[in-house]
Amino acid sequence: MPTAKYEIKRKCETCGATFLARTLDSRYCCKKCSEIATNKRRSEEHKRALMDQLISKVPDGRDYISIAEAEAIFGVCAKTIRRLIQKGDVPSINLGTRLTRISKTALLEKLPLRQEPIDRSRPLPKTYSLEPGDCYTIGEIAEKFGFNDSTVYMHIRKYSIPTRQIGNYVYAPKSEIDRIYKDVTRL
Ligand SMILES: [Zn+2]
Repeated sequence: MPTAKYEIKRKCETCGATFLARTLDSRYCCKKCSEIATNKRRSEEHKRALMDQLISKVPDGRDYISIAEAEAIFGVCAKTIRRLIQKGDVPSINLGTRLTRISKTALLEKLPLRQEPIDRSRPLPKTYSLEPGDCYTIGEIAEKFGFNDSTVYMHIRKYSIPTRQIGNYVYAPKSEIDRIYKDVTRL
């Protein structure tokens, strides 16, 4: 077995510990941290689904909504909404205990709509240049990061990095390569 000539140092997205990643895709230091992240994502998706369901049931023509509906629509907590009511910033009706209704129109003027989390799966707009001066050759990448050529080609395919061939050399944009290998250190 040849010894690896590189190491990938990452910060675990759950516990924050620094760990040596086995692949460029590793995000968690251990199975437990990965499971915690999965559960957290599932519970957030579940919460979001419940909120969307609640929102879809509010008739467009009805202005007075419940606090739970306001929480879902505006993505703020009940405390914030009650504070607005107490300050007299939004008109409300009290139909009984836990039956406060508040004006959606008034809230719209006070609060921005709920922000959806940024979709991490959506690729960012590409800003690379394929001019040789802005590129590494495959050999340069292998040398700089300690991978062999075939591993570099594998990553290029996997992460859809654009390449350009000039003569015998294949070029890939430095910006893209530095981005995917940002945690990699040559040993
Ligand atoms: Zn961890």
